[in-house]
Amino acid sequence: MVEKIVILGGGPAGITASKMLRKNKPDWDVTMVRPEPSSLIYCAIPYVVEGLLEADGVCKSDDIVTETGTKLIKDSATEVDFDKKTVKVSSGDELPYDKLLIALGARPVMPPLEGMAGAKNTFPVKTEEDLRAILKAITPGSRKALVIGAGNIGIEMAQALKKRGLDTYMVEMAKHVLPAMMDGDMVSEVEAGLRDKGIDLITGVGVDSLERRGEVVSKAVLSDEREIVLNDEGEDDLIIVSVGVRPEVDILKGTEIPIGPMGILVNERMETGVPDVWAAGDVCQYRSFLDEEIIGGKLATNAVPMAKVAARNMMGTNWTYDGFVNGAATVVDPLRIGGVGFSEETCVKKGMKVVTGKGKTTTRFPMMPGATEVTVKLIFTEEGKLVGGQVVGGEAVAERIDTLTMAIKAGFSVKDLMSFDYCSQPWQTFFPASNAIVAAAEDGWSKL
Ligand SMILES: Cc1cc2nc3c(=O)[nH]c(=O)nc-3n(C[C@H](O)[C@H](O)[C@H](O)COP(=O)(O)OP(=O)(O)OC[C@H]3O[C@@H](n4cnc5c(N)ncnc54)[C@H](O)[C@@H]3O)c2cc1C
Repeated sequence: MVEKIVILGGGPAGITASKMLRKNKPDWDVTMVRPEPSSLIYCAIPYVVEGLLEADGVCKSDDIVTETGTKLIKDSATEVDFDKKTVKVSSGDELPYDKLLIALGARPVMPPLEGMAGAKNTFPVKTEEDLRAILKAITPGSRKALVIGAGNIGIEMAQALKKRGLDTYMVEMAKHVLPAMMDGDMVSEVEAGLRDKGIDLITGVGVDSLERRGEVVSKAVLSDEREIVLNDEGEDDLIIVSVGVRPEVDILKGTEIPIGPMGILVNERMETGVPDVWAAGDVCQYRSFLDEEIIGGKLATNAVPMAKVAARNMMGTNWTYDGFVNGAATVVDPLRIGGVGFSEETCVKKGMKVVTGKGKTTTRFPMMPGATEVTVKLIFTEEGKLVGGQVVGGEAVAERIDTLTMAIKAGFSVKDLMSFDYCSQPWQTFFPASNAIVAAAEDGWSKL
């Protein structure tokens, strides 16, 4: 039987589901509704801002949606009637569906700071519109930039703005950068790296308010009463706001779709509880893989597997999504930085008793050209179960994070990691005598 599928949203979740559905059910009629002119590779935005990539090069052509036979409607959904099984779009058209996937994503939070609303030089970082607005805002008259929030996006944007020649400030309310991914003891080198690049990094302090001169922000006042003066030599200084995202659920409020503070509530099959309606990606609220508590997990690398589970279940098979482990990575060149699972600080906040271990090696045999240090930190419960890992080093960080992700999902213990079999080769690893993950596990074991 031909099924009529409507997918709301053309981000990683929507695209992944549309491809899977059309590949496995070529006779199904799949329609995607997406307002943007093209699907943007968001992760590449900082590299466009710094000038490494062209904006057009990171906007995917519509082929990515249509080459598999999915129909693309460039419009916004405005309303869903779950009884009639129709989606209304802003042109007024109504699209009937047999099965609906909601993959509306999330939008950046703009904190309700005094002076923020209506300011023409404050920018979120998400859409193609945001990207083009930021590119337009950087003019020969721009002197300074302030980045609010030092998570992965803030860090990458601050480096990009610095590379564009701006005096760049970054203010982070938490005690250290990357607070959701890393512990303080793992980021001192990262913070030093940012400062070495000339970024004026201020941590442990929030932005309290913004002072305005007409439509532009002329000053940011910090919670310790420090002030960052902007636009004292013109009107082209800018503020980038990267303090998190909230789910895009406005069109669903007041409907029977269950919504929590972090998004649509779904079960492990990505079902919403409303018949024939699934949801996937940033628009969803979901739980941690590790302890079933609701946690943030707004990552493309979570959106894609959630969408695969949704698509498989839409096709009638029985797949489940295990929960977020949140493997993620960033760069403060030449350092690569990554984390997965719970940090030690998160565990302490949760009241968990944990033991940590650290291992340090070089990324190649020490005498090989290009060898750099790599440090691994592992976090174990007091029973010795791996619940988190962090890696900082010159190369192969994301790969180590993926290894640790697999170890967490497989339920590895400290002993499993101590006897972890690894390979060795002069260009690619330390000597056969050691491996940073194994060394970190051995260090953890010695404290248990
Ligand atoms: C600068 C930046 C860097 C990032 N870097 C990384 C990274 O390195 N690694 C990583 O894993 N993640 C990264 N992320 C996060 C990642 O981009 C998101 O987690 C991911 O895009 C979520 O995918 P999604 O499909 O759920 O939602 P989205 O990608 O947000 O897609 C949602 C879609 O829904 C559409 N939509 C919204 N409202 C409507 C409506 N009313 N009708 C129809 N369509 C609508 C949107 O226009 C969009 O097409 C980054 C994000 C940003 C902004």
